Amino acid sequence: MISCPVCIMNDSIKEFKMTKTNICNFCAEWEKQKHLYTNFTQNKISQNLSNIKKKIIGSKNNKKYDCVIGLSGGTDSSFVVYHAWKLGLNPIIIHMDNGWNSKTSNHNINKILDRTGFDYKTLILDWEEFRDLQISFLKAGVPDIELITDHAIFAYIIDFAVKENIKFILSGVNFATEHSTINSWGWRKDDFNHIKKIHKIFGKHKLKTFPKMYPFKRFYYENIKKKINVINLLDFINYNSLEAKEILKKEFNWENYGGKHRESFFTMFFQGYILPEKFKIDKRILHLSCMIRNQEITRDKALEITALPPLESQNINQYVNFFKKKLQLSNDEFVKIMSEKPKRHSDYDIDIYNNWVFQLIKKTVKKLL
Ligand SMILES: [Zn+2]
Repeated sequence: MISCPVCIMNDSIKEFKMTKTNICNFCAEWEKQKHLYTNFTQNKISQNLSNIKKKIIGSKNNKKYDCVIGLSGGTDSSFVVYHAWKLGLNPIIIHMDNGWNSKTSNHNINKILDRTGFDYKTLILDWEEFRDLQISFLKAGVPDIELITDHAIFAYIIDFAVKENIKFILSGVNFATEHSTINSWGWRKDDFNHIKKIHKIFGKHKLKTFPKMYPFKRFYYENIKKKINVINLLDFINYNSLEAKEILKKEFNWENYGGKHRESFFTMFFQGYILPEKFKIDKRILHLSCMIRNQEITRDKALEITALPPLESQNINQYVNFFKKKLQLSNDEFVKIMSEKPKRHSDYDIDIYNNWVFQLIKKTVKKLL
């Protein structure tokens, strides 16, 4: 196996390549872009934050709220809320309950809301619809099931912001800890057409209430009608997730989950069991490599972590049973899902939004604006 000497990416990942300078293509991409998102001086960070504040407050349309923030209770979104609080903004917080939230996640959300006093709304997804969608994606055999959750919260927030006339959405998406994408592992999160296609083949219930977003709708609201503006706040502050966790613990009595995206049982089980067992994907390699480049962890420590199994083996049976029971899957169905050959997302779609017609429209419109 060929491994990058800087991060821990290796040639088990289809997109992995070594470059002439003896670093991998993911490290090379980081080197090329990091000056845009990291290494700001303290002065520059204060200036960045004050510019964001001015921009948001200056174009406040809604009488009460100046921005919308989606809060999962995980580090990134919690830290965005922390900054909004410190900046004296008045956001409306949206939290989504897809039926899988952990106790830790609920604890964190309650602590943050108590302390900041921010108003909030909980979007409760219709469990029968959501369960049906998750089962559809499991049966489809595609690796990015989490995109249903990401899609729902994102679609809901954009519609909510447009409806309430709130121009700014503060997002926890960030370059520092999420800069690498592996195309074969995922699919775009803003395309309901893809979800619909899979659900049509494998689903049983109608999707009456599930929030829906389309790339063109998003582009329209962001660029043509200019109704919304998404700010990735963590890209302006030299984001370091370990430092963020310390601040969150101190300020909100926030609890750590012990791993990225462990805020829900589904995510933990999916990334810790289904992805490695069925798809031979270990997402820890990707997350830890980002942390190495962002100087949050050493390469040796990252290798130590990935040498351990992704889930504690003594709990796996219990987790499998809970997973089947909650989704109402029979043992035969679960065994079938796990043993069938993995599929690619592209097997269920022609991504028209990446084709040349859409790209041309996008470029032309951007030039006109
Ligand atoms: Zn590398």
